[in-house]
Amino acid sequence: MVRINDNFVKLPASYLFSEIARKVETFTATHSGEPIIRMGIGDVTRPVCPAAIEGMRRAVADEADASSFMGYGPEQGYLFLREKIVEHDYAARGIDIAADEIFVSDGAKSDTGNFGDILSPGCRIAVTDPVYPVYVDTNVMAGRAGNLLPEGLWSDIIYLPCTESNDFVPELPQKTPDVIYLCYPNNPTGTTLTRSQLKVWVDYARSVGALILFDSAYEAYISEPDVPHSIYEIEGAREVAVEFRSFSKTAGFTGVRCGYTVVPKSLTGLDKAGNPVSLNSLWNRRQCTKFNGASYISQRAAEALYTPEGKAQVSKTIQYYMENARMLRQGLAEAGIEARGGINAPYIWIKTPDAMSSWDFFDLLLQKCHVVGTPGVGFGPCGEGYLRLTAFSSHENTAEAVSRIARLSRH
Ligand code: PLP
Repeated sequence: MVRINDNFVKLPASYLFSEIARKVETFTATHSGEPIIRMGIGDVTRPVCPAAIEGMRRAVADEADASSFMGYGPEQGYLFLREKIVEHDYAARGIDIAADEIFVSDGAKSDTGNFGDILSPGCRIAVTDPVYPVYVDTNVMAGRAGNLLPEGLWSDIIYLPCTESNDFVPELPQKTPDVIYLCYPNNPTGTTLTRSQLKVWVDYARSVGALILFDSAYEAYISEPDVPHSIYEIEGAREVAVEFRSFSKTAGFTGVRCGYTVVPKSLTGLDKAGNPVSLNSLWNRRQCTKFNGASYISQRAAEALYTPEGKAQVSKTIQYYMENARMLRQGLAEAGIEARGGINAPYIWIKTPDAMSSWDFFDLLLQKCHVVGTPGVGFGPCGEGYLRLTAFSSHENTAEAVSRIARLSRH
């Protein structure tokens, strides 16, 4: 029989969301009363904006006619979209990124997960704790993580704890990593790095020759002026950082699927003989070999987001979610519950009251408030004692959840 990749067997079952689903199902089967409000899984709820829908409609019409039919497109993405990205997401902020440094994809999960393909299996990885699990699990699959230790950490991964004691700003590690995953604004904590805090990491990466994989899937939620919208706002980042962006949370494309990755041409790695090799060329080679491009329809939809109407519609939806975040933050504060995030990100990171465990607080919220969150410990050991709520509900459900949680604190 065929030998499998044993690294896959090392991965524990993806316990978090299946356990949440199991608990919610059991609760629903045995309880009645107020309907459940789901604020756990980070999927959006507002529909795709009219400008993008119109872009898709026109693209569907193109596909229906022999004279405008579009088959395989460029693996890197259509120039009509890459040029818009360059103009609106980078040039408009004074950042020098060229169209051939942009790689359009079906989303940031694939790209953050696949990027390791072009890096040595021996690279030492650093991730924050808590963390978006894709970074860790894909490195386990690639054999970079070592063994799972009893406390839930991997022996060969360098962890950067993000806790109350460092105000959720990761400190530079003792051991030197080759690759550093940073996600800002952060999922799950909803916290950010300021320009000067991010500069510390860019300077560090430059000094030790590390590569930063910067996931800015939540860039569109930034509201504060000292929070960078792109890592390339930081001087020197073009030599050390790859940036991942997604239209999923920006424009409700979780079902449409479209995102992009920026790999500057100034970014190099070393081959076995110590010769510099362009990461842009390697990623291009990887994509051309394993990926046939994001769909034409998705890319036309993404292009439409950069029109004045598209921009206005996207911004209205983001404001809608951020009003939920505001309601959650205010409601929790009034109930005497400590929470972070929700200012530059659609996530609220709640400190469990009375030092409850993440799962105990999850159970309490489910049983007493019929509200579903995500236990923080599911994102890493440093998430213990926290619970994540998302701002992706409706205003009505968010207000209702807030009033139920407030009731809880009065008992
Ligand atoms: N990166 C982070 C930090 C996320 O939270 C998510 C989705 O939840 C993704 C990437 C995935 O985005 P996409 O839908 O573009 O694959």
